[in-house]
Amino acid sequence: MRIVMLGAPGAGKGTQAKKIAEKYKIPHISTGDIFRANIKNGTELGKKAKSYMDQGMLVPDELTVSLVMDRFKEPDAQDGYVLDGFPRTIPQAESLDAALKESGSQIDFALNVDVPDENIIQRMSGRRACVKCGATYHLKYAAPKKDGICDSCGEELVLRDDDRPETVEKRLNVYHEQTQPLIEYYAQKNVLKEVDGTQDLEDVFRDITKILQ
Ligand code: ADP
Ligand code: AMP
Repeated sequence: MRIVMLGAPGAGKGTQAKKIAEKYKIPHISTGDIFRANIKNGTELGKKAKSYMDQGMLVPDELTVSLVMDRFKEPDAQDGYVLDGFPRTIPQAESLDAALKESGSQIDFALNVDVPDENIIQRMSGRRACVKCGATYHLKYAAPKKDGICDSCGEELVLRDDDRPETVEKRLNVYHEQTQPLIEYYAQKNVLKEVDGTQDLEDVFRDITKILQ
């Protein structure tokens, strides 16, 4: 099963993608997580990506597409995956389609996790992330067991630089301009499924599993 998660930054794509990956035993591929891991490890790719990410802008398509194509070569990605944060532009979606066509496969579901902008600001300001293992929490809606500490690996949790309100506003504008058109793109391919992302996260997941059944 090949799934694309659509939705604004902070809509809950990562939260749901992790649950889908666990239930359906497919890898969760998050371009944001891959960029953050590169930044943490001080790689050339990380240095390039950081300058865009800190400004709330998208990393250029060439860099992002080649990174995803490399990830697709890994053995665990041969029978399916859940893509989180990719594609984010029409050219990225077209590159993805071209690669899939070459291998005789296709996207089965594009799940649009719909959350209005008003709720997004609240979600992002409360998000806390673990830079070591990539786990995500929310101060109010998905709190860690111990304040400020990752449940999975014990690392200290941080507010991502790009989750500060001034950057969130920029990211939302970028989303509406460059990423939202993908909803229509996947609707035309008859794989778009709408999900009400304003619900409690377990209810969102219940709706998703009904779609994927
Ligand atoms: P995205 O991957 O779309 O950027 P995340 O999955 O990281 O978004 O979710 C953004 C924040 O909102 C996180 O702090 C997460 O814990 C929280 N969150 C996710 N889904 C819900 C939900 N249904 N209700 C309330 N908070 C949520
Ligand atoms: P995310 O973790 O998905 O919210 O992504 C964090 C940031 O990484 C984004 O704001 C972009 O700067 C960058 N990024 C992640 N995925 C992509 C992508 N597919 N295309 C371009 N930039 C991306």
